[in-house]
Amino acid sequence: MSEFDIIRQYFSALGGGDGVVLSVGDDAAALQVPSGESLLVSTDTLVDGRHFTDELLPEDLGFRAVATAASDLAAMGATPLAMTLALTLPSSDPLWLQGFSTGLSAASHALGLPLVGGDTTRGPLTITVTVMGSAPDGQALLRTGATVGEQLFVTGTLGDAGAGLDLLMGRKPELASRLDLDELDYLTQRFSRPMARIEEGLVLRASASACIDISDGLWGDAMHLSRASGVKLVIDSNKLPLSPALTKAVGREVAVQSALTAGDDYELLFTLPHQSTPPDFATCIGWVEAGEGITCNTEPRLESYDHFQMGASGAI
Ligand code: ADP
Ligand code: MG
Repeated sequence: MSEFDIIRQYFSALGGGDGVVLSVGDDAAALQVPSGESLLVSTDTLVDGRHFTDELLPEDLGFRAVATAASDLAAMGATPLAMTLALTLPSSDPLWLQGFSTGLSAASHALGLPLVGGDTTRGPLTITVTVMGSAPDGQALLRTGATVGEQLFVTGTLGDAGAGLDLLMGRKPELASRLDLDELDYLTQRFSRPMARIEEGLVLRASASACIDISDGLWGDAMHLSRASGVKLVIDSNKLPLSPALTKAVGREVAVQSALTAGDDYELLFTLPHQSTPPDFATCIGWVEAGEGITCNTEPRLESYDHFQMGASGAI
């Protein structure tokens, strides 16, 4: 199968949508950003052996590549516009490509991100998705802007994806034996099929003072928000939202640790000014004080994920 056959067969039919003037097939795509809005762009790369394993189906990989990239748009309060895909493949395996493009297509539709271009090359499996969105000029949600006295919130539940990954990798077989099939599915899908919080981000664009998505773990991402805003964040570990499946699998103490430091949940962490009513999807987990860093009544046992600080085995 040639490069052009691959593009035509698997990646050329996902490209239509509002704002797409010209899609796959020419030397560049043409997009129309609504007038009075700024273009927001973010890129994420998944590398075989580092970000995923053979345990992940090609469908899930395709879905996940889009959803994790789209999470950065959610964190900015962006309206999705389009995406591109740079795909490096060791071979042209039709079964793999069919599965991958099916998952990619599902996420593309679910998140409103038509595929308008990309690049296809041969080499070690690497998947780079660039997402584009827009927000009214000056209104994108930033990491800066949290101020003293505000409350700190998250969407959804935390720590599930970390346990889901353990289950997928078969690292903790004893966990699986405690769960029924629905609970197992729930936790593994929290890793394999994350859902970028696009709708929530759009609501927060009008109200939140600062926002970040939780990709590397609450502790590490809260640290980014704290640094960007120049404030201290106080987290009450008793308030962390934990799913029943996670607590059942690992017990409350480990669930709290997972919520604090395991990554891959793709929820949003944000602050709201005092006078604003928290939306239904928000759980208050703490508040903002003067100072720096994070304070929590439970110390995390691990730091969050950092590609360049994982010791010899993690060296790039
Ligand atoms: P060029 O040689 O001009 O850079 P390519 O031959 O790389 O163009 O790509 C041809 C067309 O197919 C372009 O519109 C490009 O954006 C698109 N394309 C290539 N690979 C992909 C892919 N994996 N997914 C979506 N579109 C792709
Ligand atoms: Mg060209």
